[in-house]
Amino acid sequence: MSFVVAIDGPAGAGKGTITKLVGEKLGLVNIDTGATFRCVALNMIQEHIDIQEEDKIEKMLTKINIEMHPDGKIFLNGEDVTHRIRENDVNNLVSPVSVLPVVRSKLLEVQRNIAEGKNVIMEGRDIGTVVFPDADVKIYLDATAEERARRRVLQNQEKGIESSYEEVLAGIKDRDKRDSTREIAPLKKAEDAIYVDSTNLSVEQVVEKIIKIIEETRKKEGQGK
Ligand code: C5P
Repeated sequence: MSFVVAIDGPAGAGKGTITKLVGEKLGLVNIDTGATFRCVALNMIQEHIDIQEEDKIEKMLTKINIEMHPDGKIFLNGEDVTHRIRENDVNNLVSPVSVLPVVRSKLLEVQRNIAEGKNVIMEGRDIGTVVFPDADVKIYLDATAEERARRRVLQNQEKGIESSYEEVLAGIKDRDKRDSTREIAPLKKAEDAIYVDSTNLSVEQVVEKIIKIIEETRKKEGQGK
């Protein structure tokens, strides 16, 4: 039997960092579902397929192979795309691509298959609501848009990328709106998810809080709930 922890929340809330650290500490396989959407966007770029060409996208999806290795590397059709999927052309295409029903239904299958039979911590936008509505633990990780923008600017600086706070903030607000108002699987807190606001917490404090929530659930499940 597998144990599933779902971490949902908006862009820049810290899901990636937190999921990785919690997964390492608790021995859970870390699954970044955003990377699967990024792989689809990259495959479209590689095959010169436009977002309007649904037939071609559908055909492409019948052949797509996405692998997530335990060391965190992502492979698209056998090629290591771990860094490539973080580049700007993919950033710009991924949100509109993730709205397409044909993409969401294919990736739902891919994401469930990747998790099959494993103890996982999975991060995304709709894990607790759509992908694993029966997840053992559901966390909704949030922070104010201003704090998320501040973090993203710092992250960019560390990578040597100059970005203005106003521009990043506008981008975050735009992505929030698109992700939470789309028709299929919008970003929203599952009713039974625990809300964690990381605005005034350090990474260590968030990790500690989430580990505590997971361990309490494991203890209860061990006692037969
Ligand atoms: O998390 P990340 O920024 O890599 O996700 C990229 C995009 O993929 C998000 O902006 C969102 O549009 C989409 N996504 C999604 N559902 C998920 C994960 C990501 O729609 N479960």
